[in-house]
Amino acid sequence: MKIDYHMHFERGSYDFDWVQGFFDAAARRGLDEIGISEHSHGFTDFEHFYYDDLILDDSFIGDFQKKWLKKNKFKCPLDDYFTFMDELKKRGKPVKTGIEVCNFQDQKAVGELLDRYPFDYRIGSVHFLRGWAYDSSEIKAEWDERPLQTIYEEYAEEVEHLCAGGHYDVLGHPFNIRLFKYIPTFDVTPYLERVAKAMKKADMVVDINTGTRYRYPIEEISPYPDFMEIAADFGLPIITTSDAHEPEDCGAYIDEAITYAKRFGYTQSVRFQGRDRSFVPLG
Ligand SMILES: [Zn+2]
Ligand SMILES: [Zn+2]
Repeated sequence: MKIDYHMHFERGSYDFDWVQGFFDAAARRGLDEIGISEHSHGFTDFEHFYYDDLILDDSFIGDFQKKWLKKNKFKCPLDDYFTFMDELKKRGKPVKTGIEVCNFQDQKAVGELLDRYPFDYRIGSVHFLRGWAYDSSEIKAEWDERPLQTIYEEYAEEVEHLCAGGHYDVLGHPFNIRLFKYIPTFDVTPYLERVAKAMKKADMVVDINTGTRYRYPIEEISPYPDFMEIAADFGLPIITTSDAHEPEDCGAYIDEAITYAKRFGYTQSVRFQGRDRSFVPLG
């Protein structure tokens, strides 16, 4: 079974013509099912978490992030999203309702909010390191200001914090901190193991995500092979995803992701329904 559970409608609106492009691309690539994982920053319900957590001072990062929060964010309440997704399901679309939630510090409050909605699955993703949106190319210069080992240390800490919250089914794009091609020369094994251990304890699934393959300089699938080996050793389940932000990218490189997963011994993918899991043949 070919599934893609990580993509975003949010560059358009909840409009049937706009989202049809995603279903068309899915059909073209032979996908059996897709899942939408809107960012938490699309919803008014999450706005205060961003203002609590992000660096928003007069620094280089703060200046950018203040503007970022004003651009195409917090467009509607979660209720509107569910209304739209339920209508898509009613029309017979092979679609699941997911969400991609940023790594907020107040996990308890986030959990309470998420529990009010019947998601098919929840992805938790580290998008901020101590309030810095490290994946934004506009503030990429910050990478040169921080020791790479500190970045790895903070990434592992953020993952541990997110997993310990216990509110997520999937860890989004593990170790996408390689995205701008800052490659460590120190031994990263302890960080890989910490992340795998935290995921195992929280019973979380690995998001094998091709977004970093076609949208970032590293041009590789996340997580990269060293983490995949450890994930397989830990017996962490997987999904394969495209992280599409445009309709035509739905299912992008999904065959490559399936072949990649098989390299590490995977033969099954997780399928979600109301946060229950079943295992289906991969590909
Ligand atoms: Zn993400
Ligand atoms: Zn995403």
